[in-house]
Amino acid sequence: MRIDVFTIFPALVRAGAGESLLGKAQERGLLDVRVHDLREHTTDVHRSVDDSPFGGGAGMVMTPAPVFAAVEAADPPRPLFLLGPGGRRLDQALARELAAGPGFSLLCGRYEGVDDRIATHLCDGELSIGDYVLAGGESAALVVLEAVGRLVPGVMGNQASADEESFADGLLEHPQYTRPAEFRGHDVPEVLRSGDHGRIARWRRAMALARTIERRPDLVAARGGLTDEEVALLASELGLPYPPASPTGTGPESLQT
Ligand code: SAH
Repeated sequence: MRIDVFTIFPALVRAGAGESLLGKAQERGLLDVRVHDLREHTTDVHRSVDDSPFGGGAGMVMTPAPVFAAVEAADPPRPLFLLGPGGRRLDQALARELAAGPGFSLLCGRYEGVDDRIATHLCDGELSIGDYVLAGGESAALVVLEAVGRLVPGVMGNQASADEESFADGLLEHPQYTRPAEFRGHDVPEVLRSGDHGRIARWRRAMALARTIERRPDLVAARGGLTDEEVALLASELGLPYPPASPTGTGPESLQT
């Protein structure tokens, strides 16, 4: 899969994409990340990519010419997404969608953002990584690269982990434990040491349901609540009622593990 990134900080993106899982995926030829320096397509001595906004106001805006020139020279895989807080919010479903395709491209803004003609006449859509404002699109590009890259077939050593992790079926993942079985007086749940795989699977499923109900009721609502079988599982494995007896929410206490 080829992913092109356009930026004025190519070293930042290359460094982030060159380590660990993404770096290995590139070495193995599973991912082809091409980072393009927008400044290479400037024509003035200062290599400027920005200018002051028409209509006045604070800050600078990225000017169209270098961006159009860089994209035209690279002929990158489409869709080309502009990174920006106003775009479609990245989630696991979109990451899966992008990982299943042949490739895509990302344009990183800086300053106050880009001239709108870049968004409307060059890019195919806009992508946001969340409702907050970054100083530039580079860290957002790395988030997209990592969320998508790890789902590209072969990139993750254990493909099964993608099927069981958070959001795979609209739920958060069950808690995980490793050795030692007892740590500072805290024991690993007995069921996980029982060797009874059927019991372990039921407990994990029940814990995934309970955690999601507690921490992310919005995810439960989005999947249309629980099935009768899931309600029964919660009751039999954990003794929990559904709907929950106490109010759920995302307050600080619900984030504690
Ligand atoms: N003035 C703009 C914000 C510009 S931030 C506004 O109010 O909407 C500068 C650049 O950072 C943007 O062009 C974009 O590429 C990147 N960026 C900022 N927040 C982002 C987010 N939540 N998701 C993706 N990219 C973001």
